[in-house]
Amino acid sequence: MFKGILIEGSRSEQTVSLKTIDEAQLPEGDVTVDVAYTTLNYKDALAITGRAPIAKSYPMVPGIDLAGVVTESSNPDFKAGDEVVLNGWGVGEKHWGGLAQKARLSADWLIPLQAPFTARQAMGVGTAGYTAMLCVIALEKHGVTPDSGDILVTGATGGVGSVAVAVLAKLGYSVTAVTGRPEEEGYLKSLGAKQILDRAELNEPGKPLARETWAGAIDVAGGQVLANVCAGMKYRGVVAACGLAAGMDFPSTVAPFILRGVTLCGIDSVMAPKEDRLHAWQRLAQDLSPELLDSMITEVPFDEAIDAAGRLMDGRIRGRIVIPVAG
Ligand code: NDP
Repeated sequence: MFKGILIEGSRSEQTVSLKTIDEAQLPEGDVTVDVAYTTLNYKDALAITGRAPIAKSYPMVPGIDLAGVVTESSNPDFKAGDEVVLNGWGVGEKHWGGLAQKARLSADWLIPLQAPFTARQAMGVGTAGYTAMLCVIALEKHGVTPDSGDILVTGATGGVGSVAVAVLAKLGYSVTAVTGRPEEEGYLKSLGAKQILDRAELNEPGKPLARETWAGAIDVAGGQVLANVCAGMKYRGVVAACGLAAGMDFPSTVAPFILRGVTLCGIDSVMAPKEDRLHAWQRLAQDLSPELLDSMITEVPFDEAIDAAGRLMDGRIRGRIVIPVAG
C-alpha cells in the first residue's frame, strides 16, 4: 500500500483526496519507482482544482513530474537503485503520475537524475524549469546572444519565469522581468533581473507594432500579453512562447512577423524527444546556479499539496513548489 493523491469522479464532478492505494492498482509499465520528491506545476494545479480538463481518465493520480529510485525494472536501460527523473509524456494526465509514493512507468519516459542535482533540486527544476531551458535554447538557436539586446520574461515570479530569469542572467543577458507582483522586485533582482516591468503595461490591446524594444522574449502568458510582446520586438527578434497563464487566444496581427521578421517559436515540453530533454537538463546543470535554484523552492508537505494547488492557481506561489513524498 502507498499514499497518493487521487482525482476521482468525472470531468463535471471530480473529487480530490490523499488516499491509501493498493500497489496492484498501479498502471502498466516496465519500471516501478519509489517517488522521493514531486512538485506542483501550473498544469498539476489545473488538474487538482479541476479548472481545466487535464485528467483524461478517472481515477487519476496527478503529477507531471517525479524524481525517485527504481525498485523494479524489466527494461535493460534501468535497474533497481537507479535514480531517475520524469517530466511530462502525458503522465499525470493519461497515466498515473508523480503525486504518489509509487509510480509505474515506461522506461522510454525516464532519464537518469542529472548530476549535480539532488532529487529535491530536480523537482525544484521540474517541468517548469526544463521548459524555461527549452525556451532559452530556442532563443539561442535563432541567433539571440547577450549582445543582441534586452530579453523580456513574462510571469517572472512563477516557475518557468524564475528559472528563465536566473539562467538568462547567468548567461550574461540583460533581463527585464514582467510581473503582476511588484512587491517581488527584490526576489527578481536576486535572480538577476536588471529591470522590472508591471504586467499591467502588457495587458491591454496595443498597436500592431510598438517601439522596438526586445531582442528576445520568453512568454508564459499568451493572450493579449503575447500579442503585445510580439509587437514590441526589435527587428528579427525572437519570442519563445510556452504558456497560457493570461489566455489561450492570440489577438495579434501579422505585422511583427512580416514587417520586422520576428520569429515566434512554440515550445512544448511534454512530447519533446529524449535527446532534447537530456540536452536541456545538461544545460541546466551548467547554467542554473544551485544556490538560486534553492532560493526559488518552497517545500510543501504531501498532505498540504491539494491546498497548495489552489494557491498556485490564485497566483500566490512564488518560484517552485517541491513536495517530499517518501513515506
Ligand atoms: P506558475 O503558476 O508558477 O507561474 C505563472 C506566472 O504567470 C504567475 O506566477 C504570474 O507571474 C503570471 N501570471 C499569472 N496570471 C497572469 C496573467 N493573467 N497575465 C500574465 N501573467 C500572469 O506557472 P508555471 O511557470 O509552471 O507555468 C507558466 C505557464 O507555462 C502556464 O501557462 C503553463 O501551463 C505553461 N507551461 C507550458 C509548458 C509547455 O510545455 N509548453 C511547460 C510548463 C509550463 P507574475 O505574478 O510574476 O506576473
